[in-house]
Amino acid sequence: MPYGTFFATLDFVDRIVPRKGPTDSPFLIEVLSGLKRIAVVQSENPWVTIEATVSGGVWIYFQNCRRWLLNPTHHYLRVETAIGRPTGEHDLKCNLKQGVESKSVVDMENPNFDQWRVRVGGLRLVWEFIEALPKPTDDTHSEVDNSHPRYFPGLVREAALAKFESTGKWCAGVAPQRKRHRLRANEPREFDHILPHSRGGASTHLNIQILCVECNRVKGASAG
Ligand SMILES: [Zn+2]
Repeated sequence: MPYGTFFATLDFVDRIVPRKGPTDSPFLIEVLSGLKRIAVVQSENPWVTIEATVSGGVWIYFQNCRRWLLNPTHHYLRVETAIGRPTGEHDLKCNLKQGVESKSVVDMENPNFDQWRVRVGGLRLVWEFIEALPKPTDDTHSEVDNSHPRYFPGLVREAALAKFESTGKWCAGVAPQRKRHRLRANEPREFDHILPHSRGGASTHLNIQILCVECNRVKGASAG
């Protein structure tokens, strides 16, 4: 599981698990399985990235834009749709509206702000929606919105560096040309977008790795 996903999961779970009482609630089990499904979607679909928020929620990015905020509480998942949300068959809002109509335990918390309260029985609507997000095609490549920041925020770099230092200073290498290898103590290190920014890779925990100068050069040359 990528580093960022791990922290997002911890935050998420921390918000759901009651201080006292059983930790095997149907809601918790459903949310954990949902997080796994998101991680699978993300690994298969470079348009989807997730990012943990300070408050313990998770932003789902699609095509580099913040689209949906999933915010857990002990009893339900609050889902907010962001400005500039996509329309059409893959609109989460449409999906949730159906849930309301069919009374599958989804209710609209605040219609003015597109906030939804999804209880355990309605969570599958959210996971199914995320799994159905369209995968990129050559056509969508030309429509990449690269308005997201090119550079990793300081906190993202700090976390990546801390992990790098504490886990043995491994350069990730460049498959298949260069294997991962350890860096010497004072060897310069560079931050790299795993999925290149030019191809829609976000500047988040999930998409950062540390490379040595040579590997970064090799990766840049092979991408170009
Ligand atoms: Zn290297």
